[in-house]
Amino acid sequence: MIPNDTSTSLIMIFGATGDLAKRKLYPSLYHLYKKGKLAEKFAVIGTARRAWTHEQFRENIKESIITFVGTNDQIDDFASHFYYQPHDVTDSNSYIQLKKLAEELDTKYSLQGNRIFYLAMAPEFFGTIADHLKSDGLTETIGFKRLVIEKPFGHDLESAESLNAQIRQSFAEEEIYRIDHYLGKAMVQNIEVIRFANAFFEPLWNNRYISNIQITSSEKLGVEERARYYEKSGALRDMVQNHMLQMVALLAMEPPIRLTTEEIRSEKVKVFRALRPIEGDEVEKYFVRGQYDKGTIDNNEVVGYRDEHNVVPQSNTETFVAGKLMIDNFRWAGVPFYIRTGKRLTTKSTKIVIQFKNIPMNLYNKNEQLSPNLLVIHIQPEEGITLHVNAKKSGRNIQTKPVKLNFSNEADNGINTPEAYEKLLYDCLHGDATNFTHWDEVALSWRFVDKISEVWENKQSSFPNYKAGSMGPFEADKLLQQDNFSWWDVTDLDVENC
Ligand code: NAD
Repeated sequence: MIPNDTSTSLIMIFGATGDLAKRKLYPSLYHLYKKGKLAEKFAVIGTARRAWTHEQFRENIKESIITFVGTNDQIDDFASHFYYQPHDVTDSNSYIQLKKLAEELDTKYSLQGNRIFYLAMAPEFFGTIADHLKSDGLTETIGFKRLVIEKPFGHDLESAESLNAQIRQSFAEEEIYRIDHYLGKAMVQNIEVIRFANAFFEPLWNNRYISNIQITSSEKLGVEERARYYEKSGALRDMVQNHMLQMVALLAMEPPIRLTTEEIRSEKVKVFRALRPIEGDEVEKYFVRGQYDKGTIDNNEVVGYRDEHNVVPQSNTETFVAGKLMIDNFRWAGVPFYIRTGKRLTTKSTKIVIQFKNIPMNLYNKNEQLSPNLLVIHIQPEEGITLHVNAKKSGRNIQTKPVKLNFSNEADNGINTPEAYEKLLYDCLHGDATNFTHWDEVALSWRFVDKISEVWENKQSSFPNYKAGSMGPFEADKLLQQDNFSWWDVTDLDVENC
């Protein structure tokens, strides 16, 4: 359990002038500060290539808060905790300067030698920075030291193993916080609570009562400015290896014996171990890839992926993945987990649909099928749960109609739930690694995904194969039709349509 106290630490952000730092990290730290969760005993050193002064850096921090939080309340006091150090990640002198500043701030703010190193930089620098932090003495401290690493953690199993071996020279596994920001989302964290705190879900949470589970994470946006990275990654590495598989693990894991980091992680690892490997000729049966063509989104014409800036004209990169995952264990034998994720789709939505099996006999609606019971978990942009049940239509006939019981996080609280990064930063400050990915999870999920990308990389695709503004290629529908299922329309399931 996390003590409800304030955190004392020096936070060093590598890549402090970057997009992630500006849009997510500074606003999240500001929220924590405003809620009294940082108190007086914190300081932040931002490092990047630019030759900024502390003052210039603080002006940028304030600009980020005004832009992304929309207030300037206590902004000067907040910004006064920020310091800047121009930095070249490959040069020892930079780290020696950084160490000097860290020691000064340690004394000034009584930080007890606690240090968080947040790597908000291109992944090729992760290993180099970790090496220098040790060789140049920054990890020699009397307090705790923690390394926070952004995604992607490697490009495949081999590169992830070599990165892991490198950072483990400087940090122990329990000091490494690998970010998967989906794990900070309120409703992803809620999966466990919905399952394990309700008498009527857990007894039904198995292959006797659940027919299939569908996870959709769709975006309306195209590749935007990220083509350089995305061309080498694609949807499988960018979304499936981490976020989608993490949601599968939380849905499928056994109840942990205790809510500790180790117990929860160990149950998730067992799910990854039970995931049926899909390889060779099987890949075509279980997985579908797609790439968007030009089309219309919100009445605007948009270009196809191959015409996007920094994308090669014959690009084989997938912008859509649908897959059928089977978990070969006692609880889930025979229950397909369908996943789909993609860019330039009809709507922006992340939802989980748990479809229950039909009841043994239909006493009502003689010539029609009863609607199946559904539990829908709305992850984003809406947050909440909806339960689809059948009830009697008003009137004298005994006919049923589907009824939706709805809980919406926003409606309940009247305010937005805290950003994922805010929760994850808070957890890291308090040494709680539950919502970060352990190396074993990373390794097993790369092992699963590598077998699919191996096949795709060696086979020419028939891209583009879906129109921007659609829900992906037709083959993604066939994937479910062959099992006598179909995708639930995520727009129909929106809370406002309930
Ligand atoms: P960015 O390109 O906007 O920022 C990179 C930062 O690194 C800049 O501050 C730059 O000055 C610094 N930098 C680059 N080379 C340097 C060098 N040689 N020495 C010192 N500093 C150097 O990148 P970003 O979008 O902020 O992403 C950072 C990390 O976060 C990446 O791993 C990315 O995959 C991950 N990430 C970003 C987002 C996002 O929303 N931007 C979301 C999820 C994950």
